Amino acid sequence: MTPAGHLWIVGLGPGPAHWLTPEAAQATAQASDLVGYAPYLDRLPPRAGQRRHASDNRVEAERAALALGLAADGRRVALVSGGDPGVFAMAAAAFEAIERGPAAWRALGVEVAPGVSAMQAAAARLGAPLGHDFCAISLSDNLKPWAVVARRLAAAADGDFVIALYNPASLARPRQIFEAFDLLRARKAARTPVAFARAVGRADERIVVADLGAADPGLADMSTLVIVGSSETRWVARDEGRAWMLTPRRYGEAR
Ligand code: SAH
Repeated sequence: MTPAGHLWIVGLGPGPAHWLTPEAAQATAQASDLVGYAPYLDRLPPRAGQRRHASDNRVEAERAALALGLAADGRRVALVSGGDPGVFAMAAAAFEAIERGPAAWRALGVEVAPGVSAMQAAAARLGAPLGHDFCAISLSDNLKPWAVVARRLAAAADGDFVIALYNPASLARPRQIFEAFDLLRARKAARTPVAFARAVGRADERIVVADLGAADPGLADMSTLVIVGSSETRWVARDEGRAWMLTPRRYGEAR
């Protein structure tokens, strides 16, 4: 009989070790096999006897199937994502594979270890931009049509949510953030606070804040999380340094 395999679906957080949970560190240390996008695996210290299965960022379904196949063979597998594995990441791909795959995969022990997501890390740098209702939208149209993205942006603007934009741009998709800003500018006040939080927690971190009317969407790249405020989001000025971004807890309060 093969030994019981196990699959951890692990979130590594936005980058720095101090934003990696003890659970995630333990799961990746215990694993016999690490599966994930190469730059995420590079964040983990090498361990004798541990096998690494690095892939590029595109083939999520194959990566999930590889991890599940290894676990079904009795291996103890950690399938890693940046940030939280449930936010635009590997957890859904893994459960889709389990749903469609061999019955043995549904019998596996599977655990999801959450991580700090980019919007939380960005929010921590900015102050409290997510203090009231917010939503997260991925601008990538690799997995959904742009018409769906545009409809959701419009609905989020009309619903007056704070909006966290993941995957705002890439080399292959440089223009969509400009289209998204055009759409938002048509629906939201020009003074709406906006933040571009790039590579939060990493050596090349860069935070830029602006009002929606003046913000340059070209600041966004694939390492950037963009936060667009609601009608109530405001700046809290400081004597020195960047203003804090605040979305108050109470909605509809006169200022
Ligand atoms: N699972 C991840 C998101 C994966 S989608 C999470 O929960 O954070 C990839 C997108 O996440 C990037 O295009 C960027 O928008 C955002 N992102 C990931 N790490 C980031 C970081 N350190 N700083 C800013 N944005 C980040």
